Amino acid sequence: MIKVAVNGYGTIGKRVADAIKLQPDMMLIGIGKLHPDYEALIARKKGYNIYTSESSIQEFKKAGIEVAGTIEDMVKESDIVVDATPDGVGEKNKPLYLRYGKHAIFQGGEEPEVADVSFSALCNYDEAINKQTIRVVSCNTTSLLRVICTINNKVSKVNKVRATIVRRAADPKEVKKGPINSLIPNPASIPSHHAKDVNTVIKDLDIITMAVVAPTTLMHMHFINMTLSSEVKKEDIISAILDTPRLLLVSGKSKINSTAEIIEVARDLGRYRNDLYEVILFEDSIYTKGNELFLMYGVHQEAVVVPENIDAIRASFSLMNAQDSINITNNTLNIMKGYLI
Ligand code: NAD
Repeated sequence: MIKVAVNGYGTIGKRVADAIKLQPDMMLIGIGKLHPDYEALIARKKGYNIYTSESSIQEFKKAGIEVAGTIEDMVKESDIVVDATPDGVGEKNKPLYLRYGKHAIFQGGEEPEVADVSFSALCNYDEAINKQTIRVVSCNTTSLLRVICTINNKVSKVNKVRATIVRRAADPKEVKKGPINSLIPNPASIPSHHAKDVNTVIKDLDIITMAVVAPTTLMHMHFINMTLSSEVKKEDIISAILDTPRLLLVSGKSKINSTAEIIEVARDLGRYRNDLYEVILFEDSIYTKGNELFLMYGVHQEAVVVPENIDAIRASFSLMNAQDSINITNNTLNIMKGYLI
C-alpha cells in the first residue's frame, strides 16, 4: 500500500482524496488544510486525518476540530504527497517534500519546472515511471492531450492542432470570481499558454491555442481543428472515441446540446458531486474534410484531472504499467466509455 497525503483540500484536493480512498493499492494518510472551514468539517465527517500548519493549530482547536499534527508530520508519514494547493504554492511546498525524500505530484497551476515530468496518462505514462516529482497538467491541457493522443494513436498521426478554449470563469463554490457579464480574452495574446503546456508532453506538435473566459461555472468548452497525416472519415473518429475510456460521446438524438444538460445528466446518473472524469464530445460536431478534423467537447474542470493524479502516483513508484493502472483507476471511479447516455 502506497501511503498518500493530500496537501491542499479544495476543489481538486477533496476529489483526489476521495479517489485515493477507493484505490486497492493506496492508503490516505490525511489531508493538509489551513483553515477550519466547511471543507475541514466535511473532511472530519469523512474520517480523514486533518493536518495543518503550526500557526493554524490554535484556530482548529477553537473551532473544535481535532488535528492529527502539522503538515510536516503528514509529509513524514507519507510515501508521496499530492499537492493540490493554489497556483504557485506547490512550488513553495516542494522543498518540504524533498527534505524528507518523498515523492510528490503537483497540479497544472504550477510551472512545468516544478517537476521532473508533465503528465497525461493516455500520452506519456511511461515517461513518468520512477520520477520523484510529476506535474499533472491542467484541466484544459489534460482534455486536449486525451483527445489528441487518442486520434494520434488510434486514427492517424496528428500534424497540427488549432484550438479555441472557452474557459469557465470560476468553480461553482467560488463566490468572489467573475466575470458575470462579459467575455474576456484570457490571455489576450495568442497563443495562449495551453499550447505551450501541451508541448510539455508532446514536444514536437505544431499547436496554437486561443482562450476566452465566459461567465459560467459548469464546464469548459473546446473547439478543435486538427490536421492529420492522412484522410479521415467521421466514422473512424467516432469508433476511436467509443473505444477509449475517459472520452464520452453525446449524440444530438439525446437532446443534450449544452454544458448545462451534460451536468444535469451527471446529476441524474447519480455521479457523486455530479463529477465527470470523462471529456464529453459532441458527436454531431465531428466533421472531417480530407485530412482535417473538427470537433467540440465539454470539460468538467473540477473532476477531469482526478484519474490522472491517481495514475501519476502509480507511475511514480513504477507500481504497474500504464494500461493496468488506467484500468484500475477507471474501474474504481466508474469511468465509462461509449455514450454518456
Ligand atoms: P482551491 O483554491 O479550490 O483549493 C486549494 C486549497 O489549498 C484551499 O483550500 C487553500 O486554502 C489551500 N491552501 C493554500 N495554501 C496552502 C498551503 N500552503 N498548505 C496547505 N493548503 C493550502 O484550488 P483548486 O481549484 O483545487 O486548485 C488546486 C490546483 O489544481 C491548482 O494548481 C490549479 O491550477 C489546479 N487545477 C484546478 C482545477 C479547477 O478547475 N479548479 C482544475 C485542474 C487543475
